[in-house]
Amino acid sequence: MDRIVEADRIIVGPVGEVLDRAAVLVRGDRIAGVGPADELAVRCPGAERLRFPGASIMPGLVNSHVHLAADLSREPFGTVRQGLRDEVLALVRANAQACLRSGCTTVRDLGDAHGVVAEVRDQDRAVASSPTPRILAAGAPLTISGGHCWFLGGIADTDAEIRAAIDARAAARSDLIKVMAGGGQMTPGGPSEFESQYTVAQLRLIVEHSASHGLTVAAHAHGTATILDCIEAGVATIEHCGWRSGPMQRDRPEEAVRRMAAQGTIAGDTTPPQWRRMVERITFPDGFRFGDQISWMTDHGVAHVIGTDSGMPNAVFDEFRTSLELYEELGFDRARIIETATTGAARLLGLGASTGAVREGLDADLLVVDGNPLYNLDVLHRPSHVIVRGRGYSQADLSPAGTATEPVA
Ligand SMILES: [Zn+2]
Repeated sequence: MDRIVEADRIIVGPVGEVLDRAAVLVRGDRIAGVGPADELAVRCPGAERLRFPGASIMPGLVNSHVHLAADLSREPFGTVRQGLRDEVLALVRANAQACLRSGCTTVRDLGDAHGVVAEVRDQDRAVASSPTPRILAAGAPLTISGGHCWFLGGIADTDAEIRAAIDARAAARSDLIKVMAGGGQMTPGGPSEFESQYTVAQLRLIVEHSASHGLTVAAHAHGTATILDCIEAGVATIEHCGWRSGPMQRDRPEEAVRRMAAQGTIAGDTTPPQWRRMVERITFPDGFRFGDQISWMTDHGVAHVIGTDSGMPNAVFDEFRTSLELYEELGFDRARIIETATTGAARLLGLGASTGAVREGLDADLLVVDGNPLYNLDVLHRPSHVIVRGRGYSQADLSPAGTATEPVA
């Protein structure tokens, strides 16, 4: 059935586009109209009308970096490595549902094993076996023998292995390729987070071979040398992108970020929801503070997307708003933060033709939030109504024991 969803205002998506006392006509999985509720009702007299006084309608949020197959523990990939498939799939579904609770109707998964995230992505939407956001799945990240997260199954050392690994992901309908360009913290004995795992030539091969399948590349890189290699190789997004060359070391290479901006390399920020506790633990070099590489890159014209690395130890899936608050502390205005987390992210991740704004013809990925997030980001925390591809959920539906409501149409 058609539905007309009405609220005090619609935040369309791009900064500055707000419609007062407007409504959205949802037909099937699409937005079929945006405008005054009475006009939509004339166009569509049989539509059910859902009124949310005092509320705002806005595009669903996009979390650009999650690990739905990880379990938040100190060994976050233990379950996916050792668990029974049904147990792992249940974990992925529960995490996906938690993302929806915090208003994320699209998530980009940057690393799992055994294809479990793609399986949940492709679960039969007609029967709505569980509430699930739109998922972009990378599959197991490419890494070197003994390298960062090798245990997820993505080892590719030689050029031939790199090509074969990318071919396999394309055949498994991965949405993008993830590469561990540098080391990380969770693999004992592997390269440190400041060391590179691949050469520029190998990274370029990864970018070019992925492109031959129509796939973009997201690269994990904390260290400055690795980030520079990723810029040189032309990856689409640089995840973490912390510009660090050692403990207590922060770099600000001006020329490199200007090149990033000029060629459109995107910074993939990962601010976990528990970032305030991290701030207390970390000592920063003089003149630096938590998160300020984001402001620095933005000031140089670098585009960024916002992720949480949810699934990693203590990085929960249903607190996206808390990660957005860092931006507010860094001085970004709320309209811009909302745009970055909706319209901007959808465009930068290649989804702008299907989601990211409240516009006729796009998929109905919408939130109804109590109050006005342009005045207070807190209202994003638990949207009263979450619509994904036309299917609507209340918070009760999305609670850990919840079940899906009837489809909208
Ligand atoms: Zn990650």
